[in-house]
Amino acid sequence: MLNRPIYLDNLATTPVDTRVLTTMLPYFTEHFGNPSSINHQYGWEAEAAVNQAREIIAAAINASPEEIIFTSGATEANNLAIKGVAENYFSQGQHIITVATEHSAVIDPYKYLATLGFEITFLPVEAEGLINLNTLKKALRSDTILVSVMAANNEIGVIQPLAEIGQMCRENNIIFHSDAAQALGKIPLDVQAMNIDLLSLTGHKIYAPKGIGALYVRRRNPRVQLAAQQHGGGHERGLRSGTLYTPQIVGFGRAVEIALEEKQQEMERLTLLRNTLWQKLSQLEGIYLNGHLTHRLPGNLNVSVEGIDGAALLLALQPVMAVSSGAACSSATTAPSHVLTALGRSEKLAYASVRFGIGRFNTTEEINQVAEHFLLTVESLRKSNLRLM
Ligand SMILES: *Cc1c(COP(=O)(O)O)cnc(C)c1O
Repeated sequence: MLNRPIYLDNLATTPVDTRVLTTMLPYFTEHFGNPSSINHQYGWEAEAAVNQAREIIAAAINASPEEIIFTSGATEANNLAIKGVAENYFSQGQHIITVATEHSAVIDPYKYLATLGFEITFLPVEAEGLINLNTLKKALRSDTILVSVMAANNEIGVIQPLAEIGQMCRENNIIFHSDAAQALGKIPLDVQAMNIDLLSLTGHKIYAPKGIGALYVRRRNPRVQLAAQQHGGGHERGLRSGTLYTPQIVGFGRAVEIALEEKQQEMERLTLLRNTLWQKLSQLEGIYLNGHLTHRLPGNLNVSVEGIDGAALLLALQPVMAVSSGAACSSATTAPSHVLTALGRSEKLAYASVRFGIGRFNTTEEINQVAEHFLLTVESLRKSNLRLM
């Protein structure tokens, strides 16, 4: 294969780990049964595999297996959580709180609910991307039924204070939902200690395949009840009908298992790589770090560069490194990142931003190469800008 650009977009998606793939393969051909087939061995084999994955995923967040509802990913999990609560609890109140920097898979369901008459408060964030707990407290009302705050941001990697938010929600009898698509297997997630009632998860950010995720739904203290958004055979406690995708579920479970086994060492390694990258890039004048330096995912770096056109920068970087500006899913739009503008970045700096997502298969050599090329590219683009003026 020809040299391809160094893959540094691991917050958009990750390759499937070969250990995950190996675990999945027999479930396509040999153990292909329907996990809901209760009358024969083929069904039992598939069901046992699904149960095992469910146990692994539940244990990873300190939940019980029956509280895990498999979905097609975090987008579906968010939709089920948000619309499911809205539909079930609207008679108790129609006010919901979320944050300006959430993923579009949270923001857009809320915009939809607003068209149905729900009142949505989008909390601002502070300059480094964290919400202010006092601002949240002041936003709570007697008719607030739900609070959604993501665990870790997909663009700037900022980690929100989940335990404090969860405690505040619990004291006020408000359901707490968190989108943890970027957080699973990377930072501590404990639905008991953090008083989380609904937690959205996905596989493809942690070396499992695309198209599999889960929603944690609290069953006791208190029991959260959702209105199903997909009806059919009554799978997943009636909350998500549809034949379970056994190979993907098995892969998701294996991916979580590996992530947890290797978490401590791997997070130290990624932190070191990220810090090295920032140390090198920050030698440039007019470069800004987007998001908090330490309350962030180990593998994430997001910078804005002054005196440069964002599109030209990404184009010039692309032969050497696969990085992105903003979120992968909003790359099709031309608007500047809503996350960066929420931090107070100018439109120009928001456009001239680069997100690095360092992952399991990146090496120190790659990071050095990327840093070197980035510095040269910015300098040469700035020089040609000068010539044009
Ligand atoms: C990737 C991502 C999603 C979407 O997850 P899918 O599984 O691709 O639907 C939602 N929220 C966040 C924070 C993400 O990073």
